[in-house]
Amino acid sequence: MQDLIDYAKKKGITLQHEGPCQFCGSHVSQGIWECLDNVHHIAEILDFTNPKYYVTRFLSVDAMALQHCEIHGPWNNHIHLTRLYLIFEKNVAWNYSKTPLLSNIINHYKKNKKEFLTPPPLTKRGSLTTSDLLIASTPDECMKIVREWAKEVYLSFKPHHTLAASIANNYIKKYHS
Ligand SMILES: [Zn+2]
Repeated sequence: MQDLIDYAKKKGITLQHEGPCQFCGSHVSQGIWECLDNVHHIAEILDFTNPKYYVTRFLSVDAMALQHCEIHGPWNNHIHLTRLYLIFEKNVAWNYSKTPLLSNIINHYKKNKKEFLTPPPLTKRGSLTTSDLLIASTPDECMKIVREWAKEVYLSFKPHHTLAASIANNYIKKYHS
């Protein structure tokens, strides 16, 4: 939690405790704090030890991180966006062993670089938000809404898809060919 506050501070952002979420625009009443709570709803419905739900977990982590990216390290966007690219565009069946491999690729890529994937403007990061997760009451509904949410966020980062594709290709060349 302190990390989150520190990263926001570094960006000159004061985290709001009241009203809609300042990052995703979700119509909550306690800002990002309520978004963080909303995401827990998924874990209440899905058993994340079941491989069937792995992808939903990864998609939710990526969607949440990209929609609220001022509260993470500067290279997180590369990882989350590239993973969404691999899942959505390349149909890679993601699992826990693949994330460290993608991190290797990003670590190699970022050497001597200081770039930052500028996110879409605040509240313009996809029309679905964490509030929409609350309508899911069954595992199937949950999987569906999370995929739609992640897709919305992914599309809102369109200006960076070419870059995500090139990093993803490095990953595919090294680990999937
Ligand atoms: Zn939010």
